[in-house]
Amino acid sequence: MKRKRVKEVYTLADLQSWSDVARGVDPPIRLVVLGDPVGHSLSPQMQNAALKHCKIDMQYARFRILPGELGEGLKLIRELKFNGVNLTIPHKIGAVEMMNDLDGDAKRIGAVNVIKIEDGKLCGFNTDGRAFSRAIREEFSVDLRDLRVMILGAGGAARAIALQCAKENCERLVIANGTFEKGDKLANKLHDLFTGPKVFGPVPRLQAIQWEENAFRFQIANLDLIVNATPVGLNRVDPPPIPARLLAPHLMIYDTVYSSGRTSFVSAAIEAGARGANGLSMLLHQGALSFAIWFEREAPLDVMRKALL
Ligand code: NAP
Repeated sequence: MKRKRVKEVYTLADLQSWSDVARGVDPPIRLVVLGDPVGHSLSPQMQNAALKHCKIDMQYARFRILPGELGEGLKLIRELKFNGVNLTIPHKIGAVEMMNDLDGDAKRIGAVNVIKIEDGKLCGFNTDGRAFSRAIREEFSVDLRDLRVMILGAGGAARAIALQCAKENCERLVIANGTFEKGDKLANKLHDLFTGPKVFGPVPRLQAIQWEENAFRFQIANLDLIVNATPVGLNRVDPPPIPARLLAPHLMIYDTVYSSGRTSFVSAAIEAGARGANGLSMLLHQGALSFAIWFEREAPLDVMRKALL
């Protein structure tokens, strides 16, 4: 039979007629990333390089699944006995209630980014926090411990990053979200992990703030690291979530949005004389942790890194 090319992006309709769509695709697609948008995802090139290197006879592909389609999509993926799933925007939170089993981090965070399908069951994990921690160490040669951190966003990625900062005993955590109530709720959930001594100076250890220029300006002197965990920057025309004129040279800026070049936030950091890195390093470590969950073996990190770069 003639070998069929893998599509750039599949859809729910493709899953609904999978035996026809997948006929002739070799190696077979057994791992997927579900999201919307998802066309930008670099996970296939990274995971396919790892699968090839480890001589695992399967492929990884992108699926554009709209918010209302996740339940049906996961049901089909389970029935079709795929091996694993990554979830990206906007599915990480909605997927929680669709899991048969949740690991400790996913349960606590209320968000899932990795699913392993085992004995017909969907087991949800969250590796974003650990991946973020490894990325910060790799990019800036610092540990989260003792850093004063501000997270932009309060969605799935932000929740995982916030919990990781708390677990690693960061000195301060500020959460800024467009919908203030969501940021405030996240801060309240972490309250028990911030009962240690107050930081030096007039600022609280844990706080939610409004998404406003004045609120950002007030915080800058009392921060070391700012993390963008919103999709602002995914579109090349997006302005940075915080403009360069508000940033300062002492800051580290980590943009979870990734691209082959600089994101608008990384450019703003450099314009302000600060250090900046985009989310490729977090993607890499998240991918390696996903691979380890699916195959219960260490991922070939260098192969995956090379495929991404
Ligand atoms: P999510 O759960 O849908 O959350 C999105 C968050 O972004 C919400 O807090 C939302 O605020 C905020 N937001 C959306 N549009 C905004 C705008 N125009 N201005 C300001 N805030 C806005 O998404 P997610 O899964 O957390 O993903 C967020 C981002 O992280 C995505 O860009 C994703 O690519 C990135 N990410 C990267 C990696 C990596 O490995 N590099 C890993 C995980 C995530 P409201 O609450 O006000 O709606």
